[in-house]
This record gives sequence, C-alpha cells and structure tokens, in this order.
Amino acid sequence: MNPRNATLAGSFILYAAISLALFVAPGWEVALYPFYGLIFIWNDFRREEEVHIIFLFLTTVAAALAMARTADASFHMALGLEAGAQWLLSFGLGFHRARMSQERHRILSAVENFDGKLRDGEREMRIYEAYQESAVDQIRMRRDLTQAAKSLGSTLDARELEMRLQRVLEGRYKGSRIQILPGTPPDPLVDWAVKSQTPVLVRDLPRDERFAQAPAKGAFRSAILLPLSVMKKPYGFVRMESDEASAFDTDDLRAVDLFATVASLTLENIQLYEEVKNLAMHDGLTGLYTQRAFRLRLKEELLRAGRSQSPLSLVMCDIDLFKNYNDAYGHQAGDEFLRSFARLLLNHTRPVDCVARYGGEEFALILPNVVHSQAVDLAGRIHADAAKEPFVYQGRGTRVTASFGVSSFPQDATSQSQIIRVADERLYLSKQRGRSQVTG
Ligand code: GH3
Ligand code: MG
Ligand code: MG
Repeated sequence: MNPRNATLAGSFILYAAISLALFVAPGWEVALYPFYGLIFIWNDFRREEEVHIIFLFLTTVAAALAMARTADASFHMALGLEAGAQWLLSFGLGFHRARMSQERHRILSAVENFDGKLRDGEREMRIYEAYQESAVDQIRMRRDLTQAAKSLGSTLDARELEMRLQRVLEGRYKGSRIQILPGTPPDPLVDWAVKSQTPVLVRDLPRDERFAQAPAKGAFRSAILLPLSVMKKPYGFVRMESDEASAFDTDDLRAVDLFATVASLTLENIQLYEEVKNLAMHDGLTGLYTQRAFRLRLKEELLRAGRSQSPLSLVMCDIDLFKNYNDAYGHQAGDEFLRSFARLLLNHTRPVDCVARYGGEEFALILPNVVHSQAVDLAGRIHADAAKEPFVYQGRGTRVTASFGVSSFPQDATSQSQIIRVADERLYLSKQRGRSQVTG
C-alpha cells in the first residue's frame, strides 16, 4: 500500500469510528465531535489538502445531522461552535502550511540563486586563471623574444649566431634536443618540409600518418622542424625533438618561428655585411685586394715584421703606355689585359703575399719574409714573363710591358708611408729611364 492510500484509509477509518461513536452515544456529541480535528491534523501532517477539504465538508454534514436529532438550543450552540472551530482549525492549518511552503520556496530560491552565483563565480575564476596564465605566458614570451633579439642581433658571425639560437631554444625548451642543421640534410622531416613548403609539427610520431611510410630518423615522439632562409634562399633547418608525446604544440611552433625569423634576419645582415666588406676589400675587375685592403694589410705586416725582426718587401708596378693599349685595342681589351695581368701576378706569388690593384693600371705586392734582393728578382721574373707573354684578345696577340719599383723593410723604410713612397719613387725612376724595367 502506498503512503497516499494509507493516509486515505487511515482518515476514513478514523472518520468512520468518530461518526459511529457520535450516533451510538447520544448526549456525548459535544465531547466526541472535536475528535474530527484529529483527522485534519493527520491529513495536514500527510499533506493531503483535497482530502482535508472533503473531510471538512463531511464533518460539517455530521454536525448538521447530530443537531437534527435534538431541539436543545444550547446543544445546537455548542456543536455549532465546535463545527466553526473545525473550520477555523482547518483554515489555520492551511494558512500555516501556505506560509511554511512560501518560506521554503523563498529559502530554496535563495539557495538556488546563491548556487548560481557560486557557479558563475567559479566560471569567472577559471576564466581569470586561464587569462592570467596566458598573460604570464605572453609576458614570458615577450621577455624571451627581447632577450633573444638582443642576443641574436648582436653578432656578425654566422656560426656564433647558430650557437646562440640553439642556446636560446635550449633555455626555453628544456629537455628537448635541438639542432641547427645546415643545408638540406637527408631526413624525412626535412623532405616533408621541403615538399609542403611549411614548418613541420609532429605531436606523436607513431600516430603521424605522414611518416608511416618513411619513419623519421632517431628515437623521438614529438618534434618541430622549421626552415631557415636567408634572402629568400634556403639556409638550413631548426630541428627540435622530445621523447615525450605532445611536447610541442602550435603555439610553440609560432614561438620558434619568431626566434627563427629573428635569426634569419640577422643572417641576412651578416651576409650583407660580408658582401659589403668583400666589395670594399676586393676589386671588382680583377678580384685582387683593393688599395684600402692593401693599406690595412701593409700596416699589419709591418707591425708583425717589426715584432719578429723579419724582412718585408713591397713591389709597385705600373703598366707601360697603357693609354696607348686602350687606344689601340679598345677599353674592353684593356680590361681583359688587366685581368690577365692580375692572374700573372698571382701565379708568381705565394698565398701569404698580398696582391692588390693599387689604382687603374697600377699594382702592389706585399711580400712578407722576403728580403730586398729576392723581391727585385721576383719583380724581374714578373717583368720578363709579362714582356714575353702574348696577351691574346679576340685571337690577336698583344704585347705589353710594365715598370717596377721595389722597397724593403727595414733597409729602405720603417713606416708604412715611407715604404710606399720609396717604392713609388723607384717606379718613377723606372719610367724615367725608359720604362719596362725594375728599379730596386
Ligand atoms: P705610363 O707608361 O707613363 O704609365 O703610361 P700610361 O698610358 O700607362 O699612363 P697614364 O697614367 O697616362 O694612363 C693610364 C691609363 O690606364 C689611362 C686609362 O685609360 C687606363 N686605365 C686605367 N684604369 C683602367 C681600367 O680599369 N680599364 C682600362 N681598360 N683602362 C684603364
Ligand atoms: Mg699609371
Ligand atoms: Mg701606366
């Protein structure tokens, strides 16, 4: 039997018992009638409001029936009052229950409201925490990037730059293996990056279909491979590996890309610097050192010679009547001759010597550890070879001579300007004496 049926059965049994007592015990109605109140209290306790109303109606009918049995006015009055009291009791209980339920609702809704606010608060807290984490990450990233830019931007040596980039990445991704690979090494990751023209992010190697056919080299679970390019030309790759799966994500790929971009820009600067330096140090026509490079080198070599008490010689050389050569064969033939003459000079000198194009058709040789007589001999050999070598231009053999002046440290001069001046004066003497000769 369910609780509601039990309530109904109980109420009816109680009601029947009281009603029976009312009719079998005449004269006791006034004393028995109030027991109906028990039914109301019982129903109220079991929250059976509709049943409660039915019993209120039935008890009122019972009072009317009891009153019909006698004409005693005081009895009528007493039972009437008791019936009224039943109504009052019923409404009082109803009113109390309504108040209670209102109060319960109020408390429940307050609790619900509070719960909602708590949940909102927790959600906000989570958002703030995530925001705080990302803000801290960004600050750290910015700091790392500033430091990296300073470190990567302050070197003019490509090897040093690669080492610095490796150190920066090792500092940021501790526990990962980082390599800067030059060129395009044979490697499935590299192949993929070249083929797809994109950086490669491997989150978990065994589950990466791209490398199922050609397993990527080495024992690693996750990796990043980023191409480095300089002036839009491939330079090499940054390769990062970890033994753990998902060690890197797309944010890391972006961060490493930023570092690699800074490194690439510095590499471009280094290349530009090298090119400019090369332009300033090497002559465009002959590839020989320029006068500027010659002066720097002479200064160095004189200091070294002074320190080590060793000799040094300088040969100055000027092509004879080159103006006429240009007039006869044209300027282009003149250029071609200057290139051939430069090769001849290089063929007669050692790698430690410095061969420079001093001016238009003037050349200078710095010969460390060469005494004066040896230098004069060398100039003589060059003179002889130049004079006998037919410089061929467009099938025509042409002959050109040159004049030489030789000076040496320490016998002729001890300073840079002095050694140049003496060689120059001797070259002038060669010219004065009829050209095509060596003056030492
Ligand atoms: P000298 O024997 O007195 O030295 O006579 P020279 O004609 O060689 O001397 P000068 O200084 O009068 O002329 C030098 C010539 O060298 C003038 C110029 O046309 C030529 N020359 C200088 N630089 C270049 C060059 O880069 N290419 C060519 N083709 N000719 C050059
Ligand atoms: Mg000249
Ligand atoms: Mg000349």
